[in-house]
Amino acid sequence: MRTLAVVGGGVIGLSIAWRAAESGWTVTLFDPAIGAGASWVAGGMLAPLSEGWPGEDAALEFGAASLARWPAFAARLTAVTGIELFTARETLTVALDSADAADLRTVADWVNAHELPGFPDATVAAAPDSAVTEGVSLSGGDVIPSSPAAATASAATSGTGPRPAPGAISAATTGQPGPSAEANPPTRDGAPAAIGTPGTERLRLLDRAGIRAAEPGLGRTVRAGLLAADEPAVDNRALVAALRSACARAGVEFRTERIVAEPVAGDVNLAGGRATATAENSARGVDFARGPDAAGAGVTPGALVLRELPHDRIVLAAGAASADLWPGLPVRPVKGEILRLRRRPSAPPQPRHVIRARVHGRPIYLVPRGDGIVLGATQYEAGFDTAVTVAGVRDLITDAEAIFPGIGEYEFAEATAGSRPGSPDNLPLIGYLDERVIAATGHGRNGILGVPVTADAVVELLAGSVLPAARAADPGRFTRSGTQSPRSVPSAPIHPGGTR
Ligand SMILES: Cc1cc2nc3c(=O)[nH]c(=O)nc-3n(C[C@H](O)[C@H](O)[C@H](O)COP(=O)(O)OP(=O)(O)OC[C@H]3O[C@@H](n4cnc5c(N)ncnc54)[C@H](O)[C@@H]3O)c2cc1C
Repeated sequence: MRTLAVVGGGVIGLSIAWRAAESGWTVTLFDPAIGAGASWVAGGMLAPLSEGWPGEDAALEFGAASLARWPAFAARLTAVTGIELFTARETLTVALDSADAADLRTVADWVNAHELPGFPDATVAAAPDSAVTEGVSLSGGDVIPSSPAAATASAATSGTGPRPAPGAISAATTGQPGPSAEANPPTRDGAPAAIGTPGTERLRLLDRAGIRAAEPGLGRTVRAGLLAADEPAVDNRALVAALRSACARAGVEFRTERIVAEPVAGDVNLAGGRATATAENSARGVDFARGPDAAGAGVTPGALVLRELPHDRIVLAAGAASADLWPGLPVRPVKGEILRLRRRPSAPPQPRHVIRARVHGRPIYLVPRGDGIVLGATQYEAGFDTAVTVAGVRDLITDAEAIFPGIGEYEFAEATAGSRPGSPDNLPLIGYLDERVIAATGHGRNGILGVPVTADAVVELLAGSVLPAARAADPGRFTRSGTQSPRSVPSAPIHPGGTR
């Protein structure tokens, strides 16, 4: 049987370890603090469509490919572990001013016009001329200006189908069904059974009435909305627990040693079950005397050297720390602060949808949980810094009150910060780094979303083939030009809709 070492036990490493063990590999997972990285901190949104932005085709397609896999992936994980994962079924992005409302239209037009493998086709028939040239008028006098793409993307005029939901702009002009809560009925536990309903738009514009019908607790300043009926949210901590349990059931061995790129004093080396020393390290006075015995028993807790792990294949999934283990890998920490708020009996109910918005130019989101709300998130280039700042907490609460005024009644339960594993182009790195080591990292603000497609992609790589949906994530894209070193690739800008 072939052996696999997985370095890093966040959701990415755990999901790969689980799937690889199930497909016949003997898997050892190394992590001194399983599940304590960004995976523990995250909000749990699965929102590649709402986060889309014209030009970011590869990120949209990769995210959509993973989203399409989520229902089956979660159903399997729940069947194996009994742990439920979903906390919301739909995402509602709201606008407080006309510029943000115009952005919602831009995103809707672009995403609805995009071909997405794994998703049923969206409704893409031509809009009536008036809607295209003058913008769609919202109740209360608001107007969402039409973007050029609206001509091909926004509305159909079939006049067939069920009665549109109140306030669904596109539904009103298209005659297509309204928000698809009934179109894709939930399974018994509230999880989506599948993604998408043929013939409906993936993103649907809502006016004030539509927003109020969907989420009565939102503030009166909210003037337009974008409903993504196929974008649920999961409880990231339940996901960590479920993956860990599934790994254990599948026979994954957990080890607590830290993995390093180069040996340092006190490190042990498991190659061949014996401590070894390179000439370079002997010169540095590295003492390997504390290494394991020949049988591999009695290993001194410490660090092991990545390249000296004896396994047939190694998956590098150490999140934001991955570049420490593979110098030159273009993965960097992107700090994010996030709050957990518990609902008190006197507080208004938490939203049913994931709510996303931009307030004072800052992205914000509220993700429902059984006992309250996860409120996130700030985003800084701050190196490895997981301190929660006063300003970060203040901004999150102030901005959240603008869209969900009842939040002040909630109990402040927790503030945490984590390091997203950022990549230069907001796509992860999934692929071989050399003949033995596979990278599965750099998922940035979409690592929870990216779990199913990443696990599938790595299992395919282990079997000797490439998953088409993950081809764009090949790390070779940073070196193929031959003129650009990975570290010199500029960071991709985070567009206005980009949260997390
Ligand atoms: C505030 C915030 C909100 C977010 N919200 C969302 C969201 O709503 N939706 C979404 O899709 N994504 C979200 N993300 C992003 C998501 O959390 C990450 O992309 C994802 O968790 C990355 O998973 P990972 O397994 O690669 O890394 P991590 O979860 O960071 O795990 C890496 C693991 O590697 C281990 N490790 C590190 N160094 C070593 C070493 N030397 N040896 C051995 N092990 C090592 C660590 O202990 C850790 O357990 C959010 C992130 C943050 C910070």
